[in-house]
Amino acid sequence: MKLKDWLNVNREVFAQRDLNFLMSVLMDRKSAGFTDDCMLDDSDMDYLLSVKNLYSEGYPIAYILRQEQFFGLDFFVEPGVLIPRPETEIITEEALDIVNKNSINFVLDLCCGISCIAIVIAKHANKSLNIFASDISRQALMVSRKNIDSYNVPVRLIRSDLFSGFRKESFDLIVANPPYVETDYIKGSLSFEPRIALDGRSNGFYFIEKILRNAHKYLKSKGYLIVEIGYNHRGLLNRFIENTGIYDIVKWIKDYSSYTRGVILRLK
Ligand code: GLN
Repeated sequence: MKLKDWLNVNREVFAQRDLNFLMSVLMDRKSAGFTDDCMLDDSDMDYLLSVKNLYSEGYPIAYILRQEQFFGLDFFVEPGVLIPRPETEIITEEALDIVNKNSINFVLDLCCGISCIAIVIAKHANKSLNIFASDISRQALMVSRKNIDSYNVPVRLIRSDLFSGFRKESFDLIVANPPYVETDYIKGSLSFEPRIALDGRSNGFYFIEKILRNAHKYLKSKGYLIVEIGYNHRGLLNRFIENTGIYDIVKWIKDYSSYTRGVILRLK
């Protein structure tokens, strides 16, 4: 069968973006000059059939292809680690901006997952940095190792339940994408991803609040804290800031639909 015939038969099965992604991964497997007019061999047919079957069961395409793009870079992912999201690209862009415009040296990517934030900062910063990435999940750290090695960037990994693995370290910038989905919302496609990376308890704010309560002990004077948050967490966060007076709010970060998806805080 030619690739174009396979595409004709299966076009309806896939969302367009996922089909494009699948085609780019397939083209990487083939030699240069392979077009949709070429014949698929048996191993291509087996591969495409297994992708189609898993996809039809609802598996996220990133898990099936073991890959996701983030900030224009390819990252290795596998079931058991969170798939990076576009909203985290916006958070990362803000973090890079803070790094590039301020005298920042020590940076921590807390709850790093596959370490996409740390790696993008390491690759794109306009200065050399001491970058750390931490997570409670051993699997996330193993996947991080793979990604860090493949980009050959100097990111140091630490296994830590939030800040419990840190002692005297202090950072100019901590950026965190903690679990913040309300428990009741973890269903559908989210149920394929690790609960430990998503579940922020009843109102989704449990880990965000823990981070806010503790991050200041690990920030240098006037240090920055950037946290990705749920679209409905702004009120809770505002109340925390007013009640504690630990941080100043520098900026709310919005996504392209104008939902608040993060905040930049600075130690007073
Ligand atoms: N951004 C993810 C979502 O809304 C959640 C990620 C997280 O909990 N850190 O699906």
